[in-house]
Amino acid sequence: MCGIVGYVGPKGCVDLLVDGLRRLEYRGYDSAGLAIHDGKEIRVLRSVGKLGNLVAALKDHPLQGSPGIGHTRWATHGRPSETNAHPHVAGPIALVHNGIIENHLHLKRQLVEQGVKFTSDTDTEIIAHLVEREAKSGHKLLEAVRRALAVVEGAYAVAVLHRDEPDRIVIAKNSSPLVIGLGDGETFCASDIPAILPYTRNMLLLEEGEIALLTTSGAEIQTLKGD
Ligand code: GLU
Repeated sequence: MCGIVGYVGPKGCVDLLVDGLRRLEYRGYDSAGLAIHDGKEIRVLRSVGKLGNLVAALKDHPLQGSPGIGHTRWATHGRPSETNAHPHVAGPIALVHNGIIENHLHLKRQLVEQGVKFTSDTDTEIIAHLVEREAKSGHKLLEAVRRALAVVEGAYAVAVLHRDEPDRIVIAKNSSPLVIGLGDGETFCASDIPAILPYTRNMLLLEEGEIALLTTSGAEIQTLKGD
């Protein structure tokens, strides 16, 4: 168990994401990280240990912007380290994940055979590369995430950013919780209600097998199967 927080809206979201991650600390974690779209690029910062370490790293490497995603990791594949901490990046994609990918060996072997270079020992990085592959073949982020997850077996809650679609976050879930918070011109997501409760009381639970497009105007929810 660990935590995800996301924000899309007009405000810079770094403090809000760190605050949300603090409210999820009770779930346990060994490292933490953020990916923030600064209007041009996605910037990532990760650190091992307590959230205070991430806050200290932010002083040296400040991040600014929106949308953004934050994560606290409880390592299942790959030791706790900065390179194994989330978010994981593949080309224009940044992704955070709660859960375990059961068919990770098979998927990783396929990707390595296709020439993909891995920078971590996590199961999660596989999903980032799968989404990148779908995006490269012309799919917009929502469809790219849907197609990537179609080959993934296991438990997941994911939140994904695309450098070239800076107005949105795509989230999806299977056996790991995710809630959506609807604000006034801003939209939130998190692993649990307390993370975003200070910002909105208007919440939806993402159901099993659902994928959602989060923008400043709200959430468009579909099934992962596309029906
Ligand atoms: N399995 C992933 C990893 O080891 C995610 C763990 C989690 O849920 O924090 O990085």
